[in-house]
Amino acid sequence: MSEITDQQVADRLPDMWLDRDNVEFYRGLLQRRLLINRCADCGRWQQPPFPICPSCWSDDVRPTEVSGEGTIHSFTILRAGPPLPGVDYASGHPVVVVELAEQQGVRVTATTADVAHEELRVGMPVTLTWVDRGGEPVPAFRPAASA
Ligand SMILES: [Zn+2]
Repeated sequence: MSEITDQQVADRLPDMWLDRDNVEFYRGLLQRRLLINRCADCGRWQQPPFPICPSCWSDDVRPTEVSGEGTIHSFTILRAGPPLPGVDYASGHPVVVVELAEQQGVRVTATTADVAHEELRVGMPVTLTWVDRGGEPVPAFRPAASA
């Protein structure tokens, strides 16, 4: 997989506020990889990205790909918002906060795929997938196959 430079991340995600701590997260998204910082010393996962482990104060935190398994912690259906390619507020745009299987309390915000709005439930097991938005991959979660 070819390396994506910081400038390319900024060019491809012009609406994101990029900094030294979160650029690896967004670089991962462009490669269809969900990268969460993990402490190399104690194993703690940390999201949003932070340069130091909040448990052991190690600065050896590494962007690490997660399994993509999790459960819906909360969700909402947006009926209005800023114009975004591929987002239809008129029919409702689902936004879910998913607690990742890697560690209690580690959550990411994304949209959904392959599920009707009225089927969404807190606690629903979900799996990471990717949808296209304006030509770029965006993380989404769909019901887990075993559910
Ligand atoms: Zn640590």
